[in-house]
Amino acid sequence: MIKNFNVKRVLQGRLYKGEEIVSSIVKFLKEKSITSGLISGIGAVTRVKIGYYEQREKKYISHEFNEPMEILSLKGNVSIKDGEPFPHIHIVLSKEDFSCIGGHLYEAEVFAFEFEVIELDGISFERDFDEDTGLFLWKS
Ligand code: ZN
Repeated sequence: MIKNFNVKRVLQGRLYKGEEIVSSIVKFLKEKSITSGLISGIGAVTRVKIGYYEQREKKYISHEFNEPMEILSLKGNVSIKDGEPFPHIHIVLSKEDFSCIGGHLYEAEVFAFEFEVIELDGISFERDFDEDTGLFLWKS
């Protein structure tokens, strides 16, 4: 399933030390009425909660890391879930010893963060429960 979109506008911003990334992005999307788009960002965090989807059990395993880390890559998309703008975000982080961790982003406390949201023009994807995976995926 593929849809065509055009870029409507590109928004860039930053968050401040102590702010939480996912809730701040949700608030930003609602304020700007963005229901379709791409998210990216770089920066550093002091704490993060990420998830790994265990495919056999069909459930997320989550883990919290309380240490300073660099955001090497934060990437996501925006669609609609339950009638609201919904960001789905993944993140790759590096630790002090340069080892990396990553996963589905639940929350992250900012040390510094710069991000972009590319708003797309067109009919947004909507999320719906998918029996095969146990996930809320884009419905056709
Ligand atoms: Zn995910």
